[in-house]
Amino acid sequence: MARDLSPQCRQCRREGMKLMLKGERCFTDKCAVERRAYPPGEHGRGRIKQGEYLLQLREKQKARRFYQVLEKQFHHYYVVASGQQGITGENLLRLLETRLDNVVYRLGFGASRRQARQLVRHAHFRVNGKKVDIPSYQVRPNDIISVKASSKATETIRAATDLTASVAPWLQADHDNLTGKVLRFPERSEISAPVQEQLIVELYSK
Ligand code: SF4
Repeated sequence: MARDLSPQCRQCRREGMKLMLKGERCFTDKCAVERRAYPPGEHGRGRIKQGEYLLQLREKQKARRFYQVLEKQFHHYYVVASGQQGITGENLLRLLETRLDNVVYRLGFGASRRQARQLVRHAHFRVNGKKVDIPSYQVRPNDIISVKASSKATETIRAATDLTASVAPWLQADHDNLTGKVLRFPERSEISAPVQEQLIVELYSK
């Protein structure tokens, strides 16, 4: 399965914000965005001309990196979102937010989305009691997410829950028993993604 292997801190610096891709380190003063708050590369500190297209492109890249999704798959989400009823940008964010790897992260069972994805891929989670090792699996209301009974990652998952201050209101987490439930699909106001989704829709609609 293809995945983005570019350095995570570099991705944050490129987007000019903390995307929280490295778990615990993101909360420390070792965070690269805190230490070098300018884009990476030779011309990182130079003046960048801000055009409409560049703004839209950066917003799309930011969303892609925030959810750690590759371009092809991201565009696929846009196609599905534009075929759904409602506002395309919100549909897009809802599709990204209800990916299993993101839900595992939002429940606090992964220190970062990347770690959550790896845990899912290594089959440490069950959805409604059944093995699901596909990070892009779409959860639905009333789905129960639990940690595999004999999982060797239990300690890692428990350590991740210690980093979690709160759980999204559309989810319910039981950190003692390492289970979670999807209460409903999230509203836009409940999706804490630092993204202006309308700019992404404008980019893809060209
Ligand atoms: Fe981003 Fe975390 Fe690296 Fe900071 S430490 S730049 S938030 S991945």
